[in-house]
Amino acid sequence: MIPSASILTQMQTYLPEMIGSLLTFYALKFLGTDKEQGKNDLSLAALSFLFLTFKDIFLFGSFILADINVFIIPQKEVKIISYFFQSSSAILMLVGGLQSLKIFKVVKKELTFILSLIAILASVRAILTAPPTWQVILPSTYLITGLFFLGVCFALPHRHGVNQSLRRIGIMIVFLGFYYLFTITPWGIEAKIHSWGIESILYCLIIISIVLSTASLLKDQVQILQHELKINKEKIPLFIQISPYPIIISQLKDDHLMLVNEKASCLFNIDIHNPKSFRTEEYYVDPNARKELLKKLSETSVVENFQALLRKPRTNETFWLEMSARVIDYENEVALYTAFKDITAQKQHEQDLFEKAVKDPLTGCYNRRQFQELAQKETDRSQRYNSIFTLIMLDIDYFKKVNDTYGHAAGDEVLKALATCIKKILRSSDILARYGGEEFIILLPETTIESGYLVAERIREQISSLIVPVSGNSSIHFTISLGIVESIYSNNIAELTKYADAALYLSKEKGRNQTTIYGEESMFEKGHIKNKLENISADEIKEDLIKQAQEDFERMKYGPKS
Ligand code: GH3
Ligand code: MG
Ligand code: MG
Repeated sequence: MIPSASILTQMQTYLPEMIGSLLTFYALKFLGTDKEQGKNDLSLAALSFLFLTFKDIFLFGSFILADINVFIIPQKEVKIISYFFQSSSAILMLVGGLQSLKIFKVVKKELTFILSLIAILASVRAILTAPPTWQVILPSTYLITGLFFLGVCFALPHRHGVNQSLRRIGIMIVFLGFYYLFTITPWGIEAKIHSWGIESILYCLIIISIVLSTASLLKDQVQILQHELKINKEKIPLFIQISPYPIIISQLKDDHLMLVNEKASCLFNIDIHNPKSFRTEEYYVDPNARKELLKKLSETSVVENFQALLRKPRTNETFWLEMSARVIDYENEVALYTAFKDITAQKQHEQDLFEKAVKDPLTGCYNRRQFQELAQKETDRSQRYNSIFTLIMLDIDYFKKVNDTYGHAAGDEVLKALATCIKKILRSSDILARYGGEEFIILLPETTIESGYLVAERIREQISSLIVPVSGNSSIHFTISLGIVESIYSNNIAELTKYADAALYLSKEKGRNQTTIYGEESMFEKGHIKNKLENISADEIKEDLIKQAQEDFERMKYGPKS
């Protein structure tokens, strides 16, 4: 359908303003948004342009409806409704402009309120009376409002942001005011200035001015941010220097030091004049601890409360540190920021508490409770790997006599000497505990009864030749009795202890200062094991012990053989 000539004329009248004001609405709505603060300074001004669009849609729509004889709205109602949209637009422009400029800080709230009220009352009156001359007042409202903002803008001392938006809004409204003056005033109409081309150009200029002012605002914001970033960057070394904790920043790729504060230089003995020679990795007692830290950092980039034992290279002094580390961007490098806390005293305290909880204070051997825990673990392990261990129970012979003859303190010295002597004979993997008063228990992991018997006899022999000096120039000579059992007899450690105790009892029965093997007493008497052991020369025993020690070492290093 070809539109009639009158429709084309109406399109020229309404479409430029309809499209122009709609685009202006979107430009102000989206470009005027202060994204950081999440609010739009120009949202009310934007809304005022939307009302202009509504006005044009209404006028154009009512004309088309009338033209195609669908529905004719009376002329008076058309005027009232269109004035409503236009005056609403003017009010929004005034109120929104005042509000958007954060003007409440500059102009008193009361003044804003009175101005808004006058505009609202004037508009209501215009809607009610709808005189045709009111059209002239509307552009005047825009002009006066715009010039007011421009005036405030120039009167204000330069303030970034406020001035910028004042000027922007002022120019916008003045533009619009002139536009209406030119197009709607009688002399404008007579001079036929009102043409869709000029109107379109005017709206284009308005939109361009919004885009430009937003762009310059953004540019200013970027500059401000860059400036703040620079200041913050300069503050980092200062904050690090005044930190109460030792802090270092090092390059992640090669561990080179980039920044170190005074506290850290004292802690690590770093030569401040030659920090390049410093490598954190050299400090770790266990290099795997550093590998673990880096592994954690690769997973999370932040690691808190990581504890490690370190050693000062020259003095070899060890110390415990708790670290908080994070990967940061420092001087355009991927760097590791690490803050330290010396927890050596805390660790020592923890260790002391642990020792107190698990060890006998007199002899330094494990106590009975700890023995049971460790022995249970060993029992589980031996079942898992199908391996054998041997349990030794020993008791000092006629210890009461020692106490009675030399006193309790001398008895204590004997207990200490006994423990020291046994510790020297045992391997680090063996578990020695004080089981009762002068009764000790030993678990020998991965040890058969033959090897266990050798160990037991070695202990017995060395004790029998031990001389413990006590006060009063006297010395004590004492013996022990032992009972041993191999783990094949039970999976239960309490049961095995009972068997070892039974064998120990037998040793006492048979005259003390000897070792009895549980379950093999008869064999022992028949001389099976004794013969076997007596047939081995001293060198062979030594070789056997060395071989066993080597096996133990390999087991500790590589784990048990499957
Ligand atoms: P037996 O050869 O039969 O073992 O004789 P014994 O005298 O050693 O007898 P028993 O094993 O019953 O003796 C235990 C004694 O150990 C009794 C107690 O006075 C002494 N005793 C236990 N604990 C301590 C200790 O911590 N210090 C000292 N000095 N003596 C202790
Ligand atoms: Mg005893
Ligand atoms: Mg006893």
